[in-house]
Amino acid sequence: MDLALTDADLAFQAEVREFINTYWPEDVRRARATSSRFEESRGHSPEVRRWIDALNERGWAVPNWPQEWGGTDWNPTQKYIWDKETAKAECPQLSAFGARMLAPVLYTWGTDAQKNEFLPKIREERMIWCQGYSEPGAGSDLAGLATRAVREGDEYVVNGTKLWTSGAHVADWMFCLVRTESGAKKQEGISFLLIDMKTPGITVNPVYILGGIHSVNEVELKDVRVPVENLVGEENKGWTYAKGLLTHERTGIAGVARSEVQLARLKRIAQETGMDGGSLWDDPAFRTRVTELEVDLEALSVTELRVLAQVAQGGAPGPESSILKIRGTEIGQAIAMMTIEAFGYYGMPYPEQTLIDNEGPIGNPYVMPTMKGMLYGRASSIFGGSNEIQKNIISKAVLGL
Ligand SMILES: Cc1cc2nc3c(=O)[nH]c(=O)nc-3n(C[C@H](O)[C@H](O)[C@H](O)COP(=O)(O)OP(=O)(O)OC[C@H]3O[C@@H](n4cnc5c(N)ncnc54)[C@H](O)[C@@H]3O)c2cc1C
Repeated sequence: MDLALTDADLAFQAEVREFINTYWPEDVRRARATSSRFEESRGHSPEVRRWIDALNERGWAVPNWPQEWGGTDWNPTQKYIWDKETAKAECPQLSAFGARMLAPVLYTWGTDAQKNEFLPKIREERMIWCQGYSEPGAGSDLAGLATRAVREGDEYVVNGTKLWTSGAHVADWMFCLVRTESGAKKQEGISFLLIDMKTPGITVNPVYILGGIHSVNEVELKDVRVPVENLVGEENKGWTYAKGLLTHERTGIAGVARSEVQLARLKRIAQETGMDGGSLWDDPAFRTRVTELEVDLEALSVTELRVLAQVAQGGAPGPESSILKIRGTEIGQAIAMMTIEAFGYYGMPYPEQTLIDNEGPIGNPYVMPTMKGMLYGRASSIFGGSNEIQKNIISKAVLGL
């Protein structure tokens, strides 16, 4: 991709910056970036709702979708500018489960009725989705899933248990992989169903992860009746759609733009942290490690651009998304660890436990969300398919081993 910005690109960049400054201004950004509240639910603050509404009014909510469903006619450079500018300002993103994962499945394989019903609500963030893939006995070996859907007239009756379902406690709907037939191959006989979380027979039990965070759940499905019109694509062909969705998920998890913001913040923190009459940034050993991370991130950014250029031309991310996922999560975790290191002993206590009433944290205000973010980020090399599994995919699909 040619990244030399033309006059038209620069004008577009100015337009984007003005939009961001209007609807996601500096004071809102800072309040959010230093808040101790970890986004465990999608209960939107008025500021986030205003941002999402403004995106929709402007037609900028889902730049990568096909235009007929609300996508933009931006060229790859404009999309790149948009991604960079919104990442730099840490603008809220639409929920990834709906906008980045399910939507491509729906606009590619869904029925007209499904597209008309769900895509506008996803775009406006009026319907929150969760992903029912993993089960107690099926994570890395996802095709071994055992949740069954048996057809009875014009309904499926679903029984089974999903595990690690992020956001199931706040979701309106779940896209779910179910077994509709026991084929010779495990990948055959899987179907892709859309399930309303209010359907009788669904129980959501919380699962607390590292840091005491409630973001994932166990979802029990007992005789859950799902209308057949909620089947996406063909019965027993769900594995194809599920795999397509995962490449979009992994590309998103890589979080290159997010890491760039975190790295810039790490440098600022190091420059503001006093050490031996100077700052931590004067320490050559620390600076070398940060620079190494920066080089790694730059290399990953170029790989990401290649993938995005392919998607912008109407393709889907291929197995390269596994490379992005591995390196992106490794780099993100390393930046988070170094940030905690830079905070020194201020980063050590679990901030909320040391706060008295409404007092702010001692030291840098960014310490508040950093510890929880770092702890949650340990899971990024597990979810979306563990990094070991991504290496298996690369060895087979990229290297042909
Ligand atoms: C915070 C969090 C959020 C999640 N959110 C969701 C969600 O919203 N929806 C959803 O469906 N799932 C979700 N998951 C589940 C996630 O996708 C699985 O945890 C992941 O795929 C690993 O599966 P598993 O936990 O069953 O581990 P296992 O498959 O039991 O693996 C255990 C370990 O063995 C390794 N391993 C297994 N097989 C191999 C192999 N063949 N070669 C090399 N190493 C191997 C794995 O890498 C891992 O280290 C989430 C997980 C976490 C931690």
